[in-house]
Amino acid sequence: MKCPKCHAPMESVLHHGQTVHRCGGCRGLWFGENQLTLLASKKHRHMLDIGDETLGQAFNDCHDSTCPSCQTTRLQRRPVSGQEYLMVDECPQCQGHFLDAGEFLQYQRPGVFGQLKAAYARLVA
Ligand SMILES: [Zn+2]
Ligand SMILES: [Zn+2]
Repeated sequence: MKCPKCHAPMESVLHHGQTVHRCGGCRGLWFGENQLTLLASKKHRHMLDIGDETLGQAFNDCHDSTCPSCQTTRLQRRPVSGQEYLMVDECPQCQGHFLDAGEFLQYQRPGVFGQLKAAYARLVA
């Protein structure tokens, strides 16, 4: 698997029984379907997200990335619900997520407050 951002090879990392992929270059993380929310609820996130946040920010602006799993689908950038300052790359095909270095540490699962906010946003839309 190649990194969608810097094209360096990604290594598989076993974390809480889940195999995720981490880039050997920019240290971005690739999560398969459901892995992001699952692992965001677990401890020891810093053992997975070991990259330099500054480097991650540099790659955050990198567009035109292709899904490392499907390889043909373009990743779509979308803000995290309730954390709009955080942009993650999502594959519409396989529901995988790419997070730049440092983003997984900031990522929060949508809690009750986030769900309320999302429901309110739908009401006023
Ligand atoms: Zn990379
Ligand atoms: Zn995909």
